[in-house]
Amino acid sequence: MIKLLSYLIGKGVATQRKPFPKPDADVWGFPEVTLAPCEGAACNKCVTECPTEAIAITIDGDKPLLSLDRGACIGCGRCIEVCPTKTIVPNRTYEVATVTREDLILTNSGKKKVDEAKRTPRANLHIFKESVHARVVSTGCSACDAEIGASGNAVFDIERFGVHVVASPRFADALLITGPVSKGMQEPLRRCYGAMADPKLVIAIGTCAITGGVHKNGYTEANGADSIIPVDVYVPGCPPHPWSIIHGVLVAMGKAKPYIHNPETITPELVAVAGASALAPALAPDAAADASESSAAAPSEPSATAPAPTSDPSPELPETESGPEDAKSEPKSE
Ligand code: SF4
Ligand code: SF4
Repeated sequence: MIKLLSYLIGKGVATQRKPFPKPDADVWGFPEVTLAPCEGAACNKCVTECPTEAIAITIDGDKPLLSLDRGACIGCGRCIEVCPTKTIVPNRTYEVATVTREDLILTNSGKKKVDEAKRTPRANLHIFKESVHARVVSTGCSACDAEIGASGNAVFDIERFGVHVVASPRFADALLITGPVSKGMQEPLRRCYGAMADPKLVIAIGTCAITGGVHKNGYTEANGADSIIPVDVYVPGCPPHPWSIIHGVLVAMGKAKPYIHNPETITPELVAVAGASALAPALAPDAAADASESSAAAPSEPSATAPAPTSDPSPELPETESGPEDAKSEPKSE
């Protein structure tokens, strides 16, 4: 018994106390689109490199317009590596869930204009602010399911936010969908949704559940969930990180703000993995000035300043009861 107790005390607390902690320095995160001019057809490298056709280049007036669809992106990072103009850079935030499909499509033309009405949650959803019971339906793949499982482990501990996974749609307020929803799973998914009481939330988790991912337009018609049932929140990723899954559920509950693309919020800290000084021309003027300062102080390390988040869920999140953050017990994020 004493041995066990000393082992547990020696281990410390595994739970990450602060939601959405700063990722490790070598984490790339999702591709982000800046305001830096794209070379267009003269370059086309990102389009050629992208394995999922998530990137398109068109002409807007006389300039190339880059569109990058995170709903089709598997996060391979190739576009970030090949882009010579830093129009595409990494964004090292976990808070990537959106409430509209349009918000997943990033362009280099400035802040996206999405109809605010589309971002308004369906009526009565505020009743889920304290807790939700969630049913997971896997319609293929298993990586997203594994990450949902991980979000419930001692490190991430999704239950502390009032999220409980249940085994029946009859007990569920929220439906978490993973996988591309091929023909064979379309009717079971409809039945599961129909078995849930109103009001209810639907969260599409992972690139497959959003667009079909690598299965898109195949013979099994596996093109994602929102053509089968209505979706409230989209969590991109292949698979999404457990913190991104938690972000998506908190957005659905009204406890966190969704991601909204705004190139002016891209700070050197968010993209520091690729070297802030090299990215300075791609950033907004103020951020570029910060970039050169921070790169002069620490060329390859992220700044000690907390990154400006694209959303700010923390004020409404509960104080967690975990112990002090312990560098020894802190797991590698990705
Ligand atoms: S990171 Fe995403 S958008 Fe970029 S090349 Fe890979 S799949 Fe395509
Ligand atoms: S975004 Fe970058 S890699 Fe893609 S076409 Fe434009 S300049 Fe080339």
